[in-house]
Amino acid sequence: MADPIPLPLAGADRRRISIFGATGSIGESTVDLILRAGGPAAYDTVAVTGARNVARLAEIAIALRARIAVTADPACLPALRDALAGTGIETAAGEAALIEAADRPADWIMSGIVGFAGFAPGLAALRHGSTLALANKESLVAAGPLLMSTAATHGARILPVDSEHSAVFQALAGEDTAAVERVIITASGGAFRDWPLEKLATATVEQASSHPNWAMGQRITIDSASMFNKALEVIETREYFGFTPSQIEVLVHPESLVHALVGFRDGALMAHLGAPDMRHAIGYALNWPERAALPVSRLDLAAIGRLSFAAPDPARYPALDLAREVMEIRGLAGAVFNAAKEAALDAFIDRQIRFPAMAEVVRQVLARMSANSGLGNAAISLDNLCEADREARALAREAARSLSGA
Ligand code: NAD
Ligand code: MG
Repeated sequence: MADPIPLPLAGADRRRISIFGATGSIGESTVDLILRAGGPAAYDTVAVTGARNVARLAEIAIALRARIAVTADPACLPALRDALAGTGIETAAGEAALIEAADRPADWIMSGIVGFAGFAPGLAALRHGSTLALANKESLVAAGPLLMSTAATHGARILPVDSEHSAVFQALAGEDTAAVERVIITASGGAFRDWPLEKLATATVEQASSHPNWAMGQRITIDSASMFNKALEVIETREYFGFTPSQIEVLVHPESLVHALVGFRDGALMAHLGAPDMRHAIGYALNWPERAALPVSRLDLAAIGRLSFAAPDPARYPALDLAREVMEIRGLAGAVFNAAKEAALDAFIDRQIRFPAMAEVVRQVLARMSANSGLGNAAISLDNLCEADREARALAREAARSLSGA
């Protein structure tokens, strides 16, 4: 049993924060920054959430003196309760509890859950007029217009945490977006950028889970190898900044040091460079509009010597063309794309389908759902989104079954 912890003093000057997905890669980086900034002395932590790693969730809750710790998995609640017994920290479990935690007023909320599961808590937080630091790109891809209009209605702010989008946001500071000609987001090319194309069918889950430059959660790492991550980010760029699809470009940049570039109508190209460390983008969103000192390494460009760029090969990365299709269809196509991608990724991780079959599953689901329904014209309501998400996952599982072993 942990020692009892005094409840935080009601300091009027401490910002109230919550961290959704605190036990993940983004969550841990956020916790690290908060602790370095003084932890409970500087921040009043309302809620921290995780899934099955309750031992770590409890440690984080204790270190930050959170008021409530929530696990997404009800089966993990007894273990979480045990780990926090005597601390005075409340515990809860399940999807409804996550939304309830997001409903508790906080000034700054990290949306660091992976997948569509991050959408409902993020939406709830926006309804309080909070600042949502959005790492959960899946929400914007599935429901960009709904999130942006909810933020506008409630005076909330969404700050991008994806490194490319934080970079674009920083390059746009003080600029007129009407003067922007194009936006270029970079991609490392992932684990298989140098593999012969015909070898991709033999790629294992372990090989796909190892990123050349970034240390991230397993799902986004595999999505980097397939470039589904970049496909989501192209759509995210459109939803967040409102640029047209033809203004958004992708460049392969193996060094992952230039995160994005913004081109203006006078020909200027503003690039954002930095070490591949998410604590920069998280710290920028945490301290915005100020810049605080951050513990990220400084680039020694003379030692780095050169930076390289290449156009992405559509045959190697079919996900990028699928993203263009989604942006053309609009409506619920983003929700379908994201759900089919999540289900295809599950099937690859379960070793049911081969690596290149993920794109084929998503292509088939998009083709079927855009043929059968008014996908592009459907309103983006919570009910419609959840229904499209369910249907796309079911179709993707069916497509994966028929492609298994292929
Ligand atoms: P991760 O797998 O390391 O962590 C995910 C977190 O979400 C964990 O706390 C986990 O417990 C929780 N979680 C998982 N399933 C859940 C569910 N069904 N309901 C509630 N909580 C659940 O993932 P990550 O790499 O930290 O990525 C988090 C988000 O940030 C993703 O949307 C990802 O695309 C985005 N992102 C990550 C990075 C990075 O460097 N890791 C960079 C840019 C964007
Ligand atoms: Mg990114």
